[in-house]
Parts: sequence; C-alpha cells; structure tokens
Amino acid sequence: MTPENYRIASLPGDGIGPEVIEETWRVLQKVEQMRPVIRLERQEYSIGAAEFLRSGDPFPEAVFQEVARCDAILLGAMGLPDVRGPGGTEIAPQLDLRERLDLFAGVRPVRLFHPAHTPLRGKEAGAIDLVLVRESTEGLFSTRKRRWPDDAEAVTDEMRVTRAASERLFRFAFSLAMRRRRHVTLVDKSNVLPSMAFFRRIFDEIAEEFPGVRTSRLYVDAAALALVRRPEGFDVIVTENMFGDILSDLAAALVGGMGMAPSADIGERHAVFQPAHGSAPDIAGRGIANPVASILSAAMMLEWLGSEACLDAAESIRRAVAAVLSDPERATPDLGGRLTSSQLTEAIVAAMEDGQ
Ligand code: ATP
Repeated sequence: MTPENYRIASLPGDGIGPEVIEETWRVLQKVEQMRPVIRLERQEYSIGAAEFLRSGDPFPEAVFQEVARCDAILLGAMGLPDVRGPGGTEIAPQLDLRERLDLFAGVRPVRLFHPAHTPLRGKEAGAIDLVLVRESTEGLFSTRKRRWPDDAEAVTDEMRVTRAASERLFRFAFSLAMRRRRHVTLVDKSNVLPSMAFFRRIFDEIAEEFPGVRTSRLYVDAAALALVRRPEGFDVIVTENMFGDILSDLAAALVGGMGMAPSADIGERHAVFQPAHGSAPDIAGRGIANPVASILSAAMMLEWLGSEACLDAAESIRRAVAAVLSDPERATPDLGGRLTSSQLTEAIVAAMEDGQ
C-alpha cells in the first residue's frame, strides 16, 4: 500500500470560517483514520480581514507562494463588513486566489437533502440536484480592481468575455454533464448585451463537440424564475461570473440556505474548496454555524484529488451527510434544528463510521 500524501493549505479566514474549517478537519481526520493510505498534511495560514487588521496585509505574497505549492486549498470565509480595503470594497483574498491561480470554473452543487429544508412545496429529498458552474476569472468582475476618484460623476464596470475563457468554461460544464444527467443550461443575457451574445455563440460551438449532451438556453431573468418554479428541470447550469454569484445564492436558498452550499473553484492545476457562504458575522463565535457546506466542499476536494481511495472517501462523506440530514431534528438552527456545529459534525463522523 503506497501512502498518498497530500499537502492541504488550510485558510480558515474570518467570522465563522475558522469554526466550520475546524469541524471539517474533524471529518478529514476520520477519513485518514478509516483509510490510512490517505495522509492529509494540514498547512494552516492566516489570511483575510483579521490578518489585515493585524499586519496591514490581508494576503502576504510569501503566503500566496506557499499556498500555491500545496496540492489543494481548503478555505473558510474571508472578509468582515467593517473592514474595508482600498476603494471601499471588502477584503477578499479568495477573489485574488481565483484570478492568480486562474481558477476559471466555480462549481456549486445544489442538492436537497430533506423536504423540510426547502421553502418550496412538495419536493422530496433529491428532487433538487443541480450544479451551477460560474465563470470566475472575468465577466462583470473583470474591472473590480479599477479605482475611481471619490468625486467621479460616473463609474463603470465592464462585462469582459473572452473566447479562451468561455471555451474552457463550456468544455468543463459539458464534461461535468457527461458524468451526470447530460443536460447543460446556458444562462446569459444575450438579448441585450453584445458580450453575452458572444458568450452564447461560443456555447453553441462547444455544444457541437458534445452531441450526447442536451442543451437549453435561458436569459438570466427567466432562469431566476425557473429555478424557483421548477428546479428539477436543471442538471448543469453554466453562466457568467456575476449571474452565477447571484443565482448560486438563490439556488442555495432552495435547499436550506448558505450553510448547505459547498463550492469549488477549479483551474487546470490548482483548486480551492470553500463553503459558498461568507463570514456570517451575525452568528460568528456562537458555535452554531452549519458546517455542512464546508464538509461537502472537503468531499469535493477529495474527489478532485482523484485517487480511488479519495473518491471512496468523498462518497462516504456524502453518504454520511445524507444519512444524518434524513432526520430533520439533526440540524443546526439555520435548518430549524437545535444542534451546535460540533454536535452535527459528531453525527456525521459517527455516520461515516457506521457506513464504512
Ligand atoms: P459574502 O458577502 O461574504 O458572500 P454575505 O454577508 O452575503 O457574505 P453570509 O456571510 O454568507 O453572507 O451570510 C448570509 C446569511 O446566511 C447570514 O444571515 C448568515 O448568518 C447565514 N449563514 C451563512 N453561512 C451560514 C452557516 N454556515 N450556517 C448558518 N447560517 C449561515
């Protein structure tokens, strides 16, 4: 048995970030214990708003270099509402990571584990099961670092769409759909914006490379409606950066909120795994944050690491989460339950043991 050693950069960040990352490591320790072939070396770094307050630099270059050398990156949450960087925007090293490591595909799986978690009527567990793939290097975020004078009379952001980024994004979404229900829905605003018409043209070209995958096309406004009315109609959704940012929160609300929304930002060589939620200062420090989004993000990490043992481990985490959440009492307050973060994690760890 050759050991598989993985160096994991652990970036807990701010607010509930450190709380959910701590719970996630308990699950990963269980993985190592159950599958000794997997060794996860935890390399912890302090970056984010708290680090900015401490040292004046939210993400020192030397730390970036070390993080980039790890096999995978596990991130909690970054930023605090009162801590602002230049231009009045939040401290967001996760956006720097996406751009600098060229993590072009933001993957956000959305799955309903229990009917009690959704505000929609008549949905069984598993009825909502989609993955949103968000372009993460350009789109309407492309000019986010441009600075404007305080007395400017007008401020402009640009929706930048390049052929190269779009082609690789669509190929990624189609390849993902091949492993799922073979349906990709493009979400754009091609009836109004030339950049989006260009985006759709490239989608149509790439679709021809995947004749086994069914395609649909929706404008973003119609997509918001359809997600609420008939979420079961979606398998893989692929969209622009800002549209994906908004729709992924909407989709998370359909399955229990931000505490249930895992995510991965994936590039050719690097990947960052993090819950889709922010630092949630309103509940930080109380031990009640839902750790499921972060734990499922770690399962995505194992899947991405890709060895047979890691794939098995990812599946055992998912099965354990599903088993625990099949009882609506076993939930943190955001899901209507009374468990603390660590009690819910304990239940998941126990279910992994049971499910072997
Ligand atoms: P960001 O701008 O960084 O995305 P945000 O301020 O939009 O963050 P979040 O920090 O994600 O939003 O919080 C939104 C709401 O969801 C808050 O009320 C927060 O308490 C709740 N929330 C977020 N994550 C969790 C979690 N893991 N468990 C329970 N509630 C959560």
